[in-house]
Amino acid sequence: MAHLALSRITKSFDRTTVLHGIDLTVEDGEFVVFVGPSGCGKSTLLRTIAGLESPTSGDITIDNQNVNAVSAANRGCAMVFQSYALYPHMTVYDNMAFGLENMGVAKAAVAQKVNAAAQQLRLNDLLQRKPTQLSGGQRQRVAIGRAIVREPKLFLFDEPLSNLDAELRVSMRIELLELHERLQATMIYVTHDQVEAMTMADRIVVMRSGKIEQVGAPLELYNRPANAFVAGFIGSPRMNLVAADVLRSAGGDALLTQLPAHTHTVGLRPEHVLIDDAGALPYAVRHVEQMGASSLLHGTIGDGVAFDVVCTGQTTVHAGQQVRLAAPIDALHCFNADGVRI
Ligand code: ADP
Ligand code: MG
Repeated sequence: MAHLALSRITKSFDRTTVLHGIDLTVEDGEFVVFVGPSGCGKSTLLRTIAGLESPTSGDITIDNQNVNAVSAANRGCAMVFQSYALYPHMTVYDNMAFGLENMGVAKAAVAQKVNAAAQQLRLNDLLQRKPTQLSGGQRQRVAIGRAIVREPKLFLFDEPLSNLDAELRVSMRIELLELHERLQATMIYVTHDQVEAMTMADRIVVMRSGKIEQVGAPLELYNRPANAFVAGFIGSPRMNLVAADVLRSAGGDALLTQLPAHTHTVGLRPEHVLIDDAGALPYAVRHVEQMGASSLLHGTIGDGVAFDVVCTGQTTVHAGQQVRLAAPIDALHCFNADGVRI
C-alpha cells in the first residue's frame, strides 16, 4: 500500500512539453484510473511515477518520501503493460520468478511467492507452459502475476486489457477489481476506454493535452462534468453538445429561457431525452440501432445538427421518421463560452 503525491509535474521531450503541471494525490489502497484521448500524456505520467522517465520539473512523493532521485527498481512500483512483455523462451513459472531471482531472493521464497500468485490468478496448471501456449487473457494474467510476486507498494497498469477481445475484457476487469479487494493495494490504471474507467475506478482522472481536466468519482463526473470536454468524454454514447443558438433555432427557445443567460453550449445525454409528441424539438431519425434491451437513434435537430437518442427497450421508431423530443430541464448541462460548467 502506498500514498502518492504528484506536485507540479511537467515533462518535456526536446522542445515539446507533454505534461503541463500535474497535481494529484492518490490515497492508500485507492484504485485510480487515468483516462483521456490517445496522446494526452497518460503513459508518460505513469512512466514518470514508475521512474522510467524523470520529470522535467515537479516532485513525486511516495509515502511522504520524495522519490525523484530514486531509481525505478527501488521505487516499489510494478508496471503491467498492454503488450504483456513476457519472455517467450521462459515458462510461466520462470517469467514470474525471474525478477525475484535477479533480486537475490532465496529459491524457496521465490517458489512460495510464485505459487501464491499463481493460485490467486488461477495459473497453477499452466506454470510449465511457454507464453505461446497461452491465450491472450492467460498471458495478461502472467504479466499481472509477475507484478504481484514483487509485492509492490503501487501497481501501475498501462492499458493492460486493450489487446483482449470484448468478452475477456469484461471478465478480466472483474478479476482485477477482485485482486484489488484482496490485496488492498494502491493501483493506478490507464485506459482510453471510458467504460473501463467508469466501472473500475474509485476516482477517475480525466486528462487532455497534458493537463488534468477533472478528478472525481465516476458518477460525479457523469452527473456534474466540470466542462464540456469531460461531458463529452464520460458517458456512452456521448453527450449531445449543442450550441445555444442552434438549440434556439431548432425549437428549444422555451428551454433556453429557463437556463442561465450566458449559456453558450447545452449538453443533453442521449439517455435523458424523451420521444414525446408534446416535446419542443423536432427530430429527424436517420438510423436506428436495435440492441434489444435498448435502442440507439441517430438523427438530426434543427438545420441538420447530429443528435443521438437512447430509448430503453425496443423502439417502433424507424429511419426516416419525424418525431419530437422533450428534455427534462434538470437533465440539461450548461457550459459557458469557455466550456466551463455553469
Ligand atoms: P497516451 O498514453 O495518453 O496515449 P503518451 O504519454 O504516450 O500518451 O504520449 C503523450 C505525448 O508525448 C505524445 O504526443 C507522444 O508522441 C509524446 N511522447 C511520448 N513519449 C515520447 C518520447 N520518448 N519522445 C518524444 N515524444 C514522446
Ligand atoms: Mg499510452
